[in-house]
Amino acid sequence: MSEYDMNYALTELKEQHPWLRNYYAKMLQMVAKQVAAARKATSSLKRNGCKTGRLSYRYNDDFHAFAYNQKGFKIEENRLVLAKIGRIKIILHRKPINIKQVTICRKNGKWYAVVGCEILRRSCSTIVYKKPVGIDVGITKFAHDSDNHVVENPQFSTRMSRPLKRAHRRLSRKKLGSNNRKKARRMLARLYERINNKRSDFLHKTSAYYCRNYDLIFLERLRMANLTKNHKLAHKILDASWYTFKIMCQYKANRVVEVDPAYSSLDCSRCGHRVPKSLAVRIHSCPKCGALLDRDYNSAINHLQNGLTLLQLPVERREVTPVEPQSKVIETGTLYGDMQLTRGTGASLSGKPVPSPRAW
Ligand SMILES: [Zn+2]
Repeated sequence: MSEYDMNYALTELKEQHPWLRNYYAKMLQMVAKQVAAARKATSSLKRNGCKTGRLSYRYNDDFHAFAYNQKGFKIEENRLVLAKIGRIKIILHRKPINIKQVTICRKNGKWYAVVGCEILRRSCSTIVYKKPVGIDVGITKFAHDSDNHVVENPQFSTRMSRPLKRAHRRLSRKKLGSNNRKKARRMLARLYERINNKRSDFLHKTSAYYCRNYDLIFLERLRMANLTKNHKLAHKILDASWYTFKIMCQYKANRVVEVDPAYSSLDCSRCGHRVPKSLAVRIHSCPKCGALLDRDYNSAINHLQNGLTLLQLPVERREVTPVEPQSKVIETGTLYGDMQLTRGTGASLSGKPVPSPRAW
């Protein structure tokens, strides 16, 4: 049954079930559109050799969203007017223009209206390359950039692991189908929602900082599927949400370029000499030129230089204050005091100091 057939069947269904007339016609047609889209997606996945289940019917509790397409909605000051529903008081975050679709959804007992607007994409013809930056992402530090600015990793999920465990335990103790189980489920959902909100707030602020202060951003190309094969680190890697950070940068920044991360933490950013080291060694110490700097900082400078070479832009070798080379192996966290020797030595290419992240 095609989308067209389903829409046609709707008129007959309305004769049989008069309660369907209480709903806006466009909203019902959108359900047919969603079913058709889901069918198309499953069949194309099957064609590509993916394992897919069958589409199943949804029941009352599974419905969390409905959409008004093209017409039947209006936004007036702090009211959303929906046909056949009425005027609803809303908190408007920004003024939408040229609205094409409104989706109303329920999340943890709260209602949201997602407004889809048609806007003109800004032209990409005037890209400035004056202030480029290379960013190295990691687990202990979320980001370390080529201007030696460090963003700590807040590790939201890891920090909330105890309350999460408790909420999961509470839920599993409750009797199936009971009201108490429902309450426990809502409690757990609220916890996850809070973690998600905190994480997206952090990612938005961090990406906005980079997009506001730099014209060109170089990120390492990460293969998430490969990285998460390491089960000990997978949770922390996914918690950091580097991929979401990249997506946010891509739509906010003038230009984001992904560079090949191979050997970026091993090669010396000053002379190019390859210094083999394990993951535990957090300091890059070059025996050839004597450069001594943080491993991630070295990597970020390499990303910047590789990216500039890739785009055939002039590469500026950075002056990193050389410190007496040390022969001993440095383990994680043991040389924190020494690391501060190299802090603040990276000048930005434009020569201006970079505003601190506290200025958000
Ligand atoms: Zn070197």
